[in-house]
Amino acid sequence: MERKPKELLTWAKDTGIKMVDLKFIDLPGLWQHFSVPLSEVDEKSLVEGFGFDGSSIRGFKEIHESDMLLVPDLDTAFIDPFCDTPTLSFICNVVDPVTKKNFERDPRYVAQKAEEYLKSTGIADTSYWGPEAEFFIFDDVRFDQNYHYGYYFLDSKEGFWNSGAEERPNLGYKPRYKEGYFPVPPTDSLQNLRTEMVMVMEQCGIKVECHHHEVATAGQCEIDMKYATLTKMADQLLLYKYIIKNVARKHNKTATFMPKPIFQDNGSGMHVHQSLWKDGKPLFYDANGYAGLSELARYYIGGLLKHGPALAAFCSPTTNSFKRLVPGFEAPVYLVYSQRNRSAAVRVPMYSSNPQAKRIEYRPPDPSCNPYFAFAAMLLAGLDGILNKIDPGEPLDKNIYELTPEEVKAIRSLPGSLDEALKALETDHEFLLQGGVFTEELIEAWINYKKSKEIDAVRMRPHPYEFILYFDV
Ligand code: GLN
Ligand code: MG
Ligand code: MG
Ligand code: MG
Repeated sequence: MERKPKELLTWAKDTGIKMVDLKFIDLPGLWQHFSVPLSEVDEKSLVEGFGFDGSSIRGFKEIHESDMLLVPDLDTAFIDPFCDTPTLSFICNVVDPVTKKNFERDPRYVAQKAEEYLKSTGIADTSYWGPEAEFFIFDDVRFDQNYHYGYYFLDSKEGFWNSGAEERPNLGYKPRYKEGYFPVPPTDSLQNLRTEMVMVMEQCGIKVECHHHEVATAGQCEIDMKYATLTKMADQLLLYKYIIKNVARKHNKTATFMPKPIFQDNGSGMHVHQSLWKDGKPLFYDANGYAGLSELARYYIGGLLKHGPALAAFCSPTTNSFKRLVPGFEAPVYLVYSQRNRSAAVRVPMYSSNPQAKRIEYRPPDPSCNPYFAFAAMLLAGLDGILNKIDPGEPLDKNIYELTPEEVKAIRSLPGSLDEALKALETDHEFLLQGGVFTEELIEAWINYKKSKEIDAVRMRPHPYEFILYFDV
């Protein structure tokens, strides 16, 4: 539904809206915003955009070319549930004020181009996306630059962040190790909090399928949204995170989407269910194919697996992401597909025999990703697989731990570090340039940003565990 600026303004005034909030996405994938009183907003600004200084935005621009415009997407309007004064919120595209062209590094523009490109191939006209973003809820603690949590402390014997010794009062009913999935309350102490989050999501127009506690012991949760199209789902995912973080904060809790906050417990993934459709018909289903998959779906998987190492640079794009992608915690390690194996990068869910529900689940992503880039990159990898008929080989339905060392050696793995993932992206990114969706400039900016701001920053700091290993050298 196209919303018209004039009608929207009239509606906003009649509804008692006082403030308009403009949100956009920085390069790493977090919302930034500023607000304008409704009295300052007119039809022209809603169409042409609002000026702002883009120079201090993470990953955006140099000082000498800092003036930019935010053009609101009127279809993204929602009333911000966390503002005391009635505030209408829009998600915006970033536009150059002189050329009026979309800013190449605007993640939302990349996602929109990916959807256009899909249509232009004639293969499909729609892609559906269902991310399962997991997160941890902690008591409200702040941690400083020196990695001191107020609540978690470094257990010098085990060498991992631990909790509990300082906990007062200890109320019992703690989930046993890896048994967070999913006893009823009082063991699940976050039922009411998650329900409140879901109520706010529904109020903001997000359709939710279910919510539950996750496997990890210390307050890991998951809320599942109903699938949606690519840009729409990326928009929703940022709204999802915003709601989760703000509802938690209201209750003096902290929500984190950091992929692996606790050593030796499950990390937070963001498995992404995906499928292609044309003329209202699902393209991934074939009753006679392996796990009910069509040939087209198999090629799509072939593309995802082939480009898996490079995709990791967008799907699991933090140094912390690779602490999650290790054996033993339901996170994937191997670039194979399977209908069962949860350590496989691609799983084919078998819950339903309905052709409409046939989809594949790509498990490497985690919620630290920029969803606009991650969804676009996965789509392009899959399309590359279809266009070049990339065969994904045989599925791996055996238990990987029962394979011989030679068999294991033959299996490709995900990168072991962000550094490795960026190197893979450096050598394998032709597929991302299809249809001009990603540009060389953007890929270079991403690699430079991740190297300088994250990899080097982490590499140069003494790690807490180094004190255990080396303090007495
Ligand atoms: N937390 C697991 C991961 O990191 C997934 C657990 C699950 O949903 N089965 O991917
Ligand atoms: Mg799930
Ligand atoms: Mg889960
Ligand atoms: Mg899953």
